[in-house]
Amino acid sequence: MRRLLAAVFLAGPVCGLAAGEVYPGYTWETLADGVYLHSQDDPLAGPVDGNSVVVISENGVLVVDTHINPAVAGAVIEKIRALTDVPVTHVVNTHWHDDHTNGNHAYRQAFPGVKIVAHKDTLKALRAEWEAMEDQRRSAYATVDPEELRRMADELEGSAPDTAITYRVYSGYVAALRPELPTLVLEYPDTVFEEALTLDFGNRSVELRWLGRGNTDGDIVAWLPDDRVLVTGDLLVAPVPFAFDSPMVAWSTTLRRLGEFDAETIVPGHGAPQYDETHLALVTKLIETTTDRVRVAHGRGAAFEDLPAAVNLDDFRGEFAGENRERQWAWQTYFVEPGLKSAWISLGYPLPEDARQ
Ligand SMILES: [Zn+2]
Repeated sequence: MRRLLAAVFLAGPVCGLAAGEVYPGYTWETLADGVYLHSQDDPLAGPVDGNSVVVISENGVLVVDTHINPAVAGAVIEKIRALTDVPVTHVVNTHWHDDHTNGNHAYRQAFPGVKIVAHKDTLKALRAEWEAMEDQRRSAYATVDPEELRRMADELEGSAPDTAITYRVYSGYVAALRPELPTLVLEYPDTVFEEALTLDFGNRSVELRWLGRGNTDGDIVAWLPDDRVLVTGDLLVAPVPFAFDSPMVAWSTTLRRLGEFDAETIVPGHGAPQYDETHLALVTKLIETTTDRVRVAHGRGAAFEDLPAAVNLDDFRGEFAGENRERQWAWQTYFVEPGLKSAWISLGYPLPEDARQ
């Protein structure tokens, strides 16, 4: 995703499935009968990639999110074909970031009649951002050598702040996406909605809902009522939330609405499925507290540049990052730094010229 990439600059086994290709670094997991999760073994390894959920029904296959790397989407398609003769009829993009949409094209090529479904604001954001993302991606990936980045990471080992991890994550992006650049094409959503869309597949239905602004303006969730599975996109991410350009004030309210589903399984946009609401409650509290503390700091006269010193979130760091070095890096890079800025903007405070992108 563009914001993650910018941040990086700055700063197995198959369970219950038929045999088939398993993409290195990813794992299949069965969530319910006909419902499968394809996810990274390490959700913080570069390239940071979204989860993909496959829902097989008698009248069609629905896939929620399509990965950052089209080659990984291709492996998911192979697996679907090994599992069923029913075609993929619907791809759902939970939001516009490229780790959830880059694989759309692979589905359109494999299943020309597939409908690509998203919120209207996701389509709007993709139309506004794709070319800029493409320029940035090509300049970032086409001219650098992932091996060289890895060597630099080794040389920087032990430095503070932890730039060795920055280079290692960046190297992962380049190694995965550089080979894809010549054929990387965005397939835009062709079916959009505003509040809710229920898809009937005969033996099951899938309810798509927009619950309010959150990680982006157009995040939607997929609810499988028969299996009580809720797929949240990046409204909820584990183990460390992402807060790039997020409408923070609205986000905590939207997160509370996730609890109303009383789901048995909550599938976050990244990371492991959750079987209770502990992580959801913790992220909700974090978003709300971050926003409150930025509001208080502003009320005391803090300027935007003062935020890192004026707002302390260390009381949450242990719960999200523990003693793990990669998690601590991710906590700082993916949540604290972008989150303070997002909260400031979301509260309507003016951003200095040099802090605007
Ligand atoms: Zn994501």
